[in-house]
Amino acid sequence: MNNEPVGSGTDDSVFDKIGVRRVVNGVGPATRLGGVPLHSSVVEAMANATRHPVRMDHLEERAGGELARMLGVEAAYVTSGASAALTLATAALIAGDDPSLIDALPRITNAPHRVAVLAAHRDPYDRAVEAAGAELIVVGYPNATHIGEVERALDAETAAVIYRPGRPGNHPSLAAICGAARRSDAHVVIDGALYAPPLANLTRWFDDGASFVALSGGKHFRGPQASGILCGRADLIDTVALQHQDMDERESTWARGARSGSSKTPPRHGVGRPMKVGREQIAGLLVAVERYIAAPGADDADGIRELQLLRTLLEPGRIPFNWHETSALSVPIIELDLGAVALDVDAFATALGGMPTPIYLEEAEAWRGVLIVHPMALVAGDANRISSAISDLEARFRQTPAIGGEA
Ligand SMILES: *Cc1c(COP(=O)(O)O)cnc(C)c1O
Repeated sequence: MNNEPVGSGTDDSVFDKIGVRRVVNGVGPATRLGGVPLHSSVVEAMANATRHPVRMDHLEERAGGELARMLGVEAAYVTSGASAALTLATAALIAGDDPSLIDALPRITNAPHRVAVLAAHRDPYDRAVEAAGAELIVVGYPNATHIGEVERALDAETAAVIYRPGRPGNHPSLAAICGAARRSDAHVVIDGALYAPPLANLTRWFDDGASFVALSGGKHFRGPQASGILCGRADLIDTVALQHQDMDERESTWARGARSGSSKTPPRHGVGRPMKVGREQIAGLLVAVERYIAAPGADDADGIRELQLLRTLLEPGRIPFNWHETSALSVPIIELDLGAVALDVDAFATALGGMPTPIYLEEAEAWRGVLIVHPMALVAGDANRISSAISDLEARFRQTPAIGGEA
């Protein structure tokens, strides 16, 4: 069957051989669980991509052009994830096409290298910005930021502002922040990993004045887990390759120097070289994005069907649950309210991970006693695995109040 996701079959022989068990991923496109199953046509494109060698700089250029056309942006570049896209964007904004600055990163003092971030927008992925050598400047407060605070934070040493959509609070609009950045010769980089697609957001962010947007290939697009897209202004995207590509070339035959107006003297490896992208990631991503654009979210159907089955299998009298029709990645989710029946959520999640087939659920709301089942990585059989594990554990926890808290 053409829609059969890889991973639902029995051929896990390489992992079996080295003693790595399969798990149930009820978290969704989580990197720590390997991401979501790929559609067979994505896998096929990845396999075909390894048959012949190609020039990677040429492949990146053409793939970027194709992605830009499909996404409706000026230019694009394939990265190993949204996180790598943030590092490459930062490096490109600090070093541009200057070989001496490219060689100096991540240690740099003689060029603008500060990146401002609203306190409300802080996130562990800020690490990816720092990895390029940027010094983070935190602006405002978690629940409120004045545009004046943003303006005062931007100085001659500022290369960029990193902006994360979807954070609540009383903060300046993206357009206002882009205006302040422009007056200070700084650029705005958007971490769009969770909020684009929908592609309308991407268009709006660039209309508001963003220079770069980092996207994840492994989330909404269901592309290879180690893929991402950096979208941006063509003149800026043109310098991204210099931070990323293999520069083991002789000066006299260096193709980029001969082709473009940039320096004839190549830099050495850029700070992004460890985040390399293989041709199979690029091929798989192109097919995944094409599929997404032809029918947004259609490939989530198998996982959603499994979630619907779980909904019919769960017994509301035991652990109350809520079905939410949509969530951050535009898919339905189930919330299991363990707190409502006074079950210890940490002990319960740990016990799920200790099942013969370990089960992982989303713990972002565990602080209020809720575990979330996310459908994007569920495969056939997972609804049964989850529902029977929940019934077993619920019974066991109620009989053993020492584990289950005050119940
Ligand atoms: C997932 C995520 C990333 C990282 O994306 P990868 O493609 O896994 O590198 C960055 N920022 C945010 C907000 C994310 O949710």
